[in-house]
Amino acid sequence: MQKTFSIIKPDAVASGKAGKILSLLEDNGFRIVALRMTKLSTSQAEGFYAVHAERPFYRSLVTFMTEGPVVLMALEREDAVKKLREVMGATNPANAAEGTVRKLYAESIERNAIHGSDAPETAAQELAYFFTTVELNQL
Ligand code: GDP
Repeated sequence: MQKTFSIIKPDAVASGKAGKILSLLEDNGFRIVALRMTKLSTSQAEGFYAVHAERPFYRSLVTFMTEGPVVLMALEREDAVKKLREVMGATNPANAAEGTVRKLYAESIERNAIHGSDAPETAAQELAYFFTTVELNQL
């Protein structure tokens, strides 16, 4: 079993798709280990996306990620990191495969409904950024 980290982004929460996305994740074999709805502060979003600090879309991404509530999730299944990336679909919804979260619910390359860690090492860092060890291991 492997854990990964995911966020239902502000666009999808605002458009009332959080429940449908959770349902799709569960239908794809993910167990919800920890879950919290919150509104990210600017410094939380800046820190989370620090790897993109030099990219032209960084300020816009931080503004988007702080515009409204998000759902933070720790998810578990076999091969969770890779499987979540498959279920999410491509970053740009125009390139996302049929049936993926981004094909179904993303608005644009930025407002793309869901985040998922891109590697096991990133998953460990991102889980620890938002959840305590107790939250990740208690259920
Ligand atoms: P991901 O791993 O598929 O989420 O993609 P990345 O790590 O490359 O990018 C992080 C997030 O930045 C994406 O999910 C989008 O919300 C946003 N993003 C990525 N590329 C672009 C872009 O070219 N333009 C804009 N405006 N946002 C982008």
